[in-house]
Amino acid sequence: MALFVQKFGGTSVGDTDRMKAAAARVAATRASGHRVVVVVSAMGHATDELIGLAERVSALPDHRELDLLMSTGELVSCSLFAMALRERGVPAEGLTGAQAGIRTDGVHGRARITRIDRGRIARMLETGVVPVVAGFQGVSDAGEITTLGRGGSDTTAVALAAHLRVADTGGCCEIFTDVDGVYTADPRRVRSAAKLSRISYEEMLELAALGAGVMHARAVMFGEKFAVPIHVRHSQLPDRGTMITRETPDMEELAVVGCALKEDLGRISVRGLRNARGLQGGIFAALADRNIVVDDIMQTEQGDATVLAFTVDHGDLADAKQIVGGVVAQAGSEMQVEVGLSKVSVVGVGMKSHAGVASRMFRALGDASVLIHNITTSEIKISCIVDKADGQRALDAVHAAFGLALGDGATVGMQTDSVVGP
Ligand code: ADP
Ligand code: ASP
Ligand code: MG
Repeated sequence: MALFVQKFGGTSVGDTDRMKAAAARVAATRASGHRVVVVVSAMGHATDELIGLAERVSALPDHRELDLLMSTGELVSCSLFAMALRERGVPAEGLTGAQAGIRTDGVHGRARITRIDRGRIARMLETGVVPVVAGFQGVSDAGEITTLGRGGSDTTAVALAAHLRVADTGGCCEIFTDVDGVYTADPRRVRSAAKLSRISYEEMLELAALGAGVMHARAVMFGEKFAVPIHVRHSQLPDRGTMITRETPDMEELAVVGCALKEDLGRISVRGLRNARGLQGGIFAALADRNIVVDDIMQTEQGDATVLAFTVDHGDLADAKQIVGGVVAQAGSEMQVEVGLSKVSVVGVGMKSHAGVASRMFRALGDASVLIHNITTSEIKISCIVDKADGQRALDAVHAAFGLALGDGATVGMQTDSVVGP
């Protein structure tokens, strides 16, 4: 009897009919002899609507109150989903993150899961009751309700799958969404994008962090750390989906497996004295205390001054500005903030063993008349900061340059794993 964690995203529970269809899927998994833990997101755009309400009341909503408000979106889904299961004769109970034992640090809006308390879910599974867990939320040791950052229900699901050791039972974590798998680029942006049958954790983590919204980056991190097989699937169509797994030697055959575009980045630049010591440590420690993930960091020396610059998501910009502003004022430095930047990236574990990836990417961007503002690389990715207005053109250009389009034969020929799960 395998154990599956089945996560349904916002579109997949967007109205009561879809919710009933998702419940039918869970019931079918159970009927074929497996156990299931369900994780749900808020219905459709409920989280955006809740944030909109908060913004109508306050220009800068308090982080604690905002978390309390946002957590209600997933509560609506988990209770309705449990009702839909019961209606089908499947015993089920909705659980808040706190009731499911999801413990986090106390950083509102970007909390990290610190542990999962044993007990309730295990007892429910033993007695044949399906736990329907509200994703995206947890509780801090101080008893405060926290949220895990936008898209965080994936992380709830994979963390639970790791905790429940689904792989040992022959199960996996299934992420049901509105696309039938992970593509070489966002299929809504690049029509010719091809579906991948498999992708390594490492590649998926980079793609997610670089803007491929199909998975929450921290979910992939949990998956890799605890070897949880993750299966990304369409919630309504029969499909083979994409398996996110450990890297296998054949994965290095392709230099680039996918590309991504991250829009709406802000850049904060700090101009300080060349011999000022400790400024960098002060800035990044203060940002880390608020769990703000900094994108690219650059430092240059100009005359007797240094210019330190880094990019952050627009969503984090207001907080980052306030935090860095405080450190900079104390140090007597100057801060400048720019908006309207994007980042285009290519990713592939095969880059470790293929030469010429950077030159191919830069030539493609040059041929498309895209101005590159900054370049960062790691072993398995190359990223270029570009103007937002150039972002889509840059993405199309690199997708084509690496032959990733459906029909180019690059990815469509990849070996397909046997599908885990029902
Ligand atoms: P959910 O609400 O189910 O969590 P999301 O909107 O968070 O769904 O994620 C699914 C979306 O991710 C897709 O609709 C697609 O537009 C987008 N996406 C971005 N990059 C990719 C990619 N490389 N492959 C597949 N989908 C992608
Ligand atoms: N409802 C939350 C969001 O919209 C979490 C999620 O969907 O994963 O970001
Ligand atoms: Mg999502």
